[in-house]
Amino acid sequence: MGKHASQTTGRTGQCLICGRTFAVSKLHKAGTLRPHLFEMIAEEVKTCSADSLICDEDLARFRRRYVEALLEEERGEITELDARVLDSFEKGTLTVQAGAPAAIDQAETFGERVADRVAAFGGSWTFILSFLAVLVLWMALNVVGLSTDPFDPYPFILLNLVLSSLAALQAPVIMMSQRRQEDKDRLRSENDYMVNLRAELEIRQLHEKIDHQMAKQWERLAELQQIQIELLEKR
Ligand SMILES: [Zn+2]
Repeated sequence: MGKHASQTTGRTGQCLICGRTFAVSKLHKAGTLRPHLFEMIAEEVKTCSADSLICDEDLARFRRRYVEALLEEERGEITELDARVLDSFEKGTLTVQAGAPAAIDQAETFGERVADRVAAFGGSWTFILSFLAVLVLWMALNVVGLSTDPFDPYPFILLNLVLSSLAALQAPVIMMSQRRQEDKDRLRSENDYMVNLRAELEIRQLHEKIDHQMAKQWERLAELQQIQIELLEKR
């Protein structure tokens, strides 16, 4: 309790890890941290006890290492995405780009846009029906209309050539469009993953903050009670 008294009167305290002096609001009591985090700090700094004070900066560093160890334990390795989220978490910035899939849309070339359009048209009922109409017309013209002088008589060899050329061209266009779609999907899911991981880390941190807040409130309450008892005794 002696340390606590000096803390509230002085309004400053010393960080156990870096030894610098900070305002009490910038310091955290080791006892209010999550047990695992506390254990990790105690392992490194032998003198750490429940009453030790730790500054924001050092706490952020330890928290990052703690989360890193946690992720490594769960997944066996830390991916580049995890590292990015950890970085943003430590610095408190937003690195998750909400517009990542939109960025790919802007970066597309003319050829890619044409490929998308062609693939979209090729996969529509409009295409199937109009193509069917062309086929029927071609055959009808050669069987009925131009029976005297057909440009592509009965087994329709020229039509066959046109159809195979069309198929040969359509396949790579569809593949191009699919690859771009995959890129977009990958970016979107990477983005989702980072958002989720970040949210999980933030929730963990919130838990800690609430624990910290409750411990502080409890202390204040005990202090108030002490004052009240002293007042009562004086009467
Ligand atoms: Zn410190």
